[in-house]
Amino acid sequence: MTTSIIFAAGEQHTQAGHPEHAGRMGTVRQFLEESGIMERVTVLEPAMATEEDLARVHSADQINLVRWVSERGGGMIGGDTYTTRGTFDAAKIAAGSACRAVESVVSGSADNAVALIRPPGHHASASSIEGFCLFNNIAIAARYAQTQLGIERIAIVDFDVHHGNGTQDIFYADNSVQFFSIHMFSHYFYPGSGRLQEDGVKQGAGYTINAPLPPGTGDRGYQAVFDEIVEPLLAQFQPDLILVSAGYDAHWRDPLAQMQLSLRGYAALTQRLIRYAGELCAGKIIFLLEGGYDLDVLGYGVLNLIHALLKDDDVLDPFGAAPQNEVDVSGLLIKVKQLHLLA
Ligand SMILES: [Zn+2]
Repeated sequence: MTTSIIFAAGEQHTQAGHPEHAGRMGTVRQFLEESGIMERVTVLEPAMATEEDLARVHSADQINLVRWVSERGGGMIGGDTYTTRGTFDAAKIAAGSACRAVESVVSGSADNAVALIRPPGHHASASSIEGFCLFNNIAIAARYAQTQLGIERIAIVDFDVHHGNGTQDIFYADNSVQFFSIHMFSHYFYPGSGRLQEDGVKQGAGYTINAPLPPGTGDRGYQAVFDEIVEPLLAQFQPDLILVSAGYDAHWRDPLAQMQLSLRGYAALTQRLIRYAGELCAGKIIFLLEGGYDLDVLGYGVLNLIHALLKDDDVLDPFGAAPQNEVDVSGLLIKVKQLHLLA
């Protein structure tokens, strides 16, 4: 197996005291280097997205706003997204590195890939910036694959704990991209979208699949979503490529959310996704980093992911299972299956 890895740490886009800071990637890098796994992967150089790459997804106004605010030294956009003088370049490098990771797999130079990039992207829509996200890296990579690499059908699976609202918006009326978001849903929890009934419009009707899980969902609940919903709907769709928005903030130690996944549970999900790619699209799968704010969980989570991509059985889980019992989601799963005609 050949796995390519790309680091785009976005050091020029960071803010002390903010949960989404450049130290996240420093920790990941340290974990990978100390593990010895770097000798077994191909490290790609980061790449900068062109404005044409961005414009396949984002409005000119949005691109210009990020450029303008960066040129003026940075500032807040909306209530929660900081920028610095280096943000425009960092965001273009995150998106461009996502495209390069996809290219390495589609061209056959790697079997699969991981893009360790920031700032994250899945809350940015075609014309809005929010949730620590400037440009939607995974959407830009998907459009790049479709327009530049000849890929037609792409499945995006988003297991970050937050709803992938930007990605959903971008592909909501599109039947060439199937989008799954498996997230925590609660009246108080960001971004507040991702209800079950949000399933696409026009040609895209049925191609958005939301699993809005209650706080306290854990390994068994997540695995049931993958076995009973993600796997059969992916098989119906028959993607040419699978992209994953990989967020590690559904772990029970994460400070921003209240889910109960363990590292072992995360590894079980990534192993499933890698198996689906093997069965459906010659193993072509690319994981792109989104959230994850407990640094040790992030480090172990990414290390376990790379082991899974290399087809190792190793799973490191020093933190163990969640301290509380997980909630039962079987009633919700029945509703999701009914909506998507699986039951
Ligand atoms: Zn998140």
